[in-house]
Amino acid sequence: MTLAAYSGATDTGRKRRRNEDAYVVAPPLFAVADGMGGAQAGEIASKLAATVLEDTDSGSLSGPERVASLIQEANRRVHERSSTDPATTGMGTTMTVALVESDGVVIGHVGDSRAYLVRDGGIEQITEDHSLVNELLKSGRLSSEEAETHPQRSVITRAVGTDPDVDVDSFIVDARAGDVFLLCSDGLTDMVADEDILEAVEKSPEDLKRVTKSLVAAANRGGGEDNITVVAFAIGEDEAGGDTAEMTAVVEPDTTETQPRQGVSNARARLVLTMLGLLAIAGVLLVWGLVH
Ligand code: MG
Repeated sequence: MTLAAYSGATDTGRKRRRNEDAYVVAPPLFAVADGMGGAQAGEIASKLAATVLEDTDSGSLSGPERVASLIQEANRRVHERSSTDPATTGMGTTMTVALVESDGVVIGHVGDSRAYLVRDGGIEQITEDHSLVNELLKSGRLSSEEAETHPQRSVITRAVGTDPDVDVDSFIVDARAGDVFLLCSDGLTDMVADEDILEAVEKSPEDLKRVTKSLVAAANRGGGEDNITVVAFAIGEDEAGGDTAEMTAVVEPDTTETQPRQGVSNARARLVLTMLGLLAIAGVLLVWGLVH
């Protein structure tokens, strides 16, 4: 899996005095964090979490375990700071992380920032919001129209740093050339509809800097009520040439939050290739044995 392009943009918006969002563009690692807390605490939480993400060595871990452990480490560090610094008591942050690995894009997620996948002219939200409004929506106590204007739509049900431990959604998405992944804070998605996000990507899929800038501008045109952050990256052609093993649909997010979601098609394709390789070697040995 190779990266064709990437870009990140953030803006305070039109109503807030400070920008409490943070983002990471450190390929193959990308993230968005939306901090919360009194005074400057939200800013501290999101920046601290972003720094931990960039600086932490995850040893031999890979895939969903690696991303989950990075977010757990961020949680530990933000919680430690808020427990020792009274000015930051109760601070926390959302965190949506993407890590591009050889067999797919690993997503890790806590809170109501989102990851989207744009593919074949469609857009799909691949993370589930950990928010009060989403809980009410799922239980049928709220319609999607009511959700859009709900006064408590920024209340989240999970955050990084507010508790000693955090439940992390982490899963792998099969990716292929041409896919564009977007990570964004609610300052974008509360102001700009999914179809308009799609349109912005489709307009200039080769120029992601333009995409992220135009999305920030669109959110500000829509009112700019919150800090706006967008990170985008595009998947390129595989160096080996063939990406047939990656041509599977995105794994649908399941409803159980603790279970890692894994695509199995790549592993199966690799197994077949290994078997073919072994057969070829056996054939060569057989021919060599016959002629000698
Ligand atoms: Mg926000």
